[in-house]
Amino acid sequence: MRILLVHTGGTIGMAQTGAGFAPRRGVVEDAVVALQAEGKLPEEIALEVLEPLIDSANATPEDWNRIARVIHAHQHAFEGVVVTHGTDTLAYTSAALCFALEGLRIPVVLTGAMLPLTVDGNDGVRNLIEAFQLVQATAAGVWVQFAGKKLHGGRVRKSHSRAFDGFSADPSDIPPLQRAGEPNLHCVGTPAIGIIAMAPGMPASLLQHAAETCDGLVLRCFGSGTAPDTQGLRVALEIAQSRRIPVVGVSQCPEGGMALGTYAAAQILLDHDVVDGRDMTVEAAYAKLAYTLAFASDPAGRRQRLEACLCGEFTP
Ligand code: ASP
Repeated sequence: MRILLVHTGGTIGMAQTGAGFAPRRGVVEDAVVALQAEGKLPEEIALEVLEPLIDSANATPEDWNRIARVIHAHQHAFEGVVVTHGTDTLAYTSAALCFALEGLRIPVVLTGAMLPLTVDGNDGVRNLIEAFQLVQATAAGVWVQFAGKKLHGGRVRKSHSRAFDGFSADPSDIPPLQRAGEPNLHCVGTPAIGIIAMAPGMPASLLQHAAETCDGLVLRCFGSGTAPDTQGLRVALEIAQSRRIPVVGVSQCPEGGMALGTYAAAQILLDHDVVDGRDMTVEAAYAKLAYTLAFASDPAGRRQRLEACLCGEFTP
């Protein structure tokens, strides 16, 4: 079985420097060779290193495009792809790949590490071995393998900043994959998307500025979908409506998601056409907005796409 390894950077391939951990060329490459020699990784691995290797804090939608292009271009030649990635924005990239790789025919497994392969007692070796095991055994779609867990690529979130068991995802019966007859590649431009968190007493000017300048907004709402009903927030949402930019509401709660309309305090959101993001993660909502802006230009088409469950990114 031929497997492609796309190395993008992240802690897994880092080494200590005077300024802290930073990506170093050769770390992942050497580990693969050593683990193959021990019989712990498959023999047929092709390696594609995306230079420059980055800390995923510096990832942009153009990096999503680069990774998606490589996978799309090679999906007929390989039976699976493993992507090594930094953990900080891995959830954004895995959601983005779900939306980018429509009709994906093979499994894509993202992994990384909380401690570099260059540090004794790291979790990178385990995650790398298990990612290769998963890619040989699982169905087509975008998955994350981390600390012994197989997670849905469209629902995953980084839930711990230090523990090896750093990711979680609600399960879904819908695979992390947009079905299509033929594999299609979708790329994103450089959309200006704001993620605005609701907070008690928040300055409405913040949201007003975002509504005036962004192409789309993710509102991180309270609980099951409420927001402070202030004149300032109403004005901000009216600006978004008049500019016809999509606004998606998601919950501050890692579990349960939105249920817009449960409380009267949700009326401000309903009055202003905020899309119910249900139990989507902030990361999935952000990526879905980016691909929706690239995909559909009319507000009705955008809304329809945002409300549709494309790849199990929310519970329908
Ligand atoms: N800052 C690192 C990154 O996201 C963290 C990690 O990989 O664990 O690239």
